[in-house]
Amino acid sequence: MTNRTPLMAGNWKMNLDHHEATHLVQKLAWELKDKEHDYSAVEVVVVPPFTDLRSVQTLVDGDKLEVRYGAQDVSAQEKGAYTGEISAAMLAKLGVSYAVVGHSERRQYHAEDDALVGAKAKAALAHGIVPIICVGEGLDVRQAGDQVSYTLAQVDGAYAGLDAEAAAKTVVAYEPVWAIGTGEVATPEDAQEVCGAIRARLAELYSQEVADSVRVLYGGSVKSGNVASIMVKEDVDGALVGGASLQAEEFAAIVRYQQ
Ligand code: PEP
Repeated sequence: MTNRTPLMAGNWKMNLDHHEATHLVQKLAWELKDKEHDYSAVEVVVVPPFTDLRSVQTLVDGDKLEVRYGAQDVSAQEKGAYTGEISAAMLAKLGVSYAVVGHSERRQYHAEDDALVGAKAKAALAHGIVPIICVGEGLDVRQAGDQVSYTLAQVDGAYAGLDAEAAAKTVVAYEPVWAIGTGEVATPEDAQEVCGAIRARLAELYSQEVADSVRVLYGGSVKSGNVASIMVKEDVDGALVGGASLQAEEFAAIVRYQQ
């Protein structure tokens, strides 16, 4: 990678209430402080459920923690009669830095398509929130050897409404669905193949400068024991971590993969 700051983001999914959230963030911050972690060298983001965000904000602000936090989703709508939705403006008010959009679980269980994912990314960016745009193929696609074309079609769809200035601020997470929560991690070469193709596609759609500024993360059963071998790859700029981010020590070890 060039001079992109590695990003480690922990997606808690539908786990931990606001008391547990506070506890985990405190423990994580302590672990990292104990090891004198340099947050400017590896950025650290937790992505709790919506209901935890206010508590995490209070803790982060009160203790002046360098941990950032994100939301697991964001509405494509600005405001109004959209029961159950949370707007980007509301998240921005809570100091949210990132919003995951198009996670495979949302695509699968909430029928989100690329157009909606793109609209959510746009809504986030309009409020200064960086979208983490998730893409990645299922097992059938991988077995057919179509992982690159499938994933690039998702990239094309999600970026369709974004101009170069907006695109340059995004983060992409390549998350092969067959590796999420399964314990089956992509090989570093598999991860590089698709992450590299994503960057090349961004260069085609926009420019090399835009492509070089976008951080491309890998996600799928990342743990402290496998993260370093994946991070070595030139187009992998970090990880979106699910299960392993629920334990402070384990997530801290992932953040500190260089040690
Ligand atoms: C995820 O939910 O984005 C994810 C990658 O999960 P896990 O690390 O548990 O595979």
